[in-house]
Amino acid sequence: MIPMIPYGKQDISQADIDAVVRVLQSDYLTQGAQVPLFEQTVASYCGAQYAVAVNSATSALHIACLALELRGGDFFWTSPNTFVASANCALFCGATVDFVDIDPLTYNMCVVALENKLKIAKQNHTLPKIVMPVHFAGQSCDMKRIHALSVEYDFKIIEDAAHAIGGQYLGAPIGGGEYSDITVFSFHPVKIVTTGEGGVATTNQEALAEKMQLFRSHGVTREPHLMTQPQEGAWVYQQVDLGFNYRMTEMQAALGISQMQRLGDFIQKRTVFAQHYDVGLSHLPLVLPYQTPESDSSFHLYPILIQTDQLSKTRLEVFNALRERGIGVNVHYIPVHTQPYYQQQGFAQGDFPVAEAYYQQTISISVFHAMTEQDQETVIKVLQEVLV
Ligand SMILES: *Cc1c(COP(=O)(O)O)cnc(C)c1O
Repeated sequence: MIPMIPYGKQDISQADIDAVVRVLQSDYLTQGAQVPLFEQTVASYCGAQYAVAVNSATSALHIACLALELRGGDFFWTSPNTFVASANCALFCGATVDFVDIDPLTYNMCVVALENKLKIAKQNHTLPKIVMPVHFAGQSCDMKRIHALSVEYDFKIIEDAAHAIGGQYLGAPIGGGEYSDITVFSFHPVKIVTTGEGGVATTNQEALAEKMQLFRSHGVTREPHLMTQPQEGAWVYQQVDLGFNYRMTEMQAALGISQMQRLGDFIQKRTVFAQHYDVGLSHLPLVLPYQTPESDSSFHLYPILIQTDQLSKTRLEVFNALRERGIGVNVHYIPVHTQPYYQQQGFAQGDFPVAEAYYQQTISISVFHAMTEQDQETVIKVLQEVLV
């Protein structure tokens, strides 16, 4: 059997392993010093004041929505070209989810579509409380314009930056919070930096950080200034809200701290791979990912669009042929509104045609730090053979 070159994969060094082993030999496997250190590492990397680490980006998106007081009766908008977690977090809060179609060049939420939808929603008194742009593949959305619309139409912004740690927008790291209330990163192994499972929410608003800290740990506090009743003694903790156990372990945080030291290298290598693809695939019947001048992508994904009108093969045939030859391609994303659960919520095929047309043609090819130049040559060569 030909070994599979996957579309993405973690890169674990000996230093990463040593960091996790040291925690296993220490006194604290949870609620020790590593999680706050990991939070500091991410916050200072991004230039944010606060970072709250949890057990997944899905949990981080949930507590971000809760901190911004998303409730039943509220409206929440995101991109259909994303993982289901970007929309599910709002359903967890009882809110009504809707989508804004994507831009055909960047595959990110289209700002013109957003503005048009806001105008209509204003007339209908159905303006969203939260809009969640998703930095697809690691390329930033047009945050300046989305932020300007948030001022005009009075909504909050959570950036789903699950793909985008290490990416930049207008020369500053994504997650610095200049154009949003909260930014969420994922540390799942297929993303840029991993903690096994894990997520972090960054913010510059102390009140939001405090709320997210409460929600990740049962709504329980040991901070006297957050308590609502007098404290009888040093043993006292108080539950002041309803929260969850979304805590990250010390082992995960230690892995994250160690991995964050290599983030610059991770991004540099992914960028070089992307540049090689840009050149090596330019003569094939493909649309290669467009990069805006405002953004430096983290290149979590390298999505190619199969120009089926110039080929005798369908996307499915190309996909299967690549997999048969050991190229572990994938597809990002099935538009969320076409999932059976969302169809039950009233969405239908055809609701967001740009995202649907993009989905019909897209294939994500291999890009990850541990990939060799030889691997990349193989991907390019096999694509050439399959696309003739
Ligand atoms: C991976 C991903 C998530 C969820 O991240 P987890 O850490 O796996 O919970 C959310 N949004 C997007 C866009 C993702 O790619």
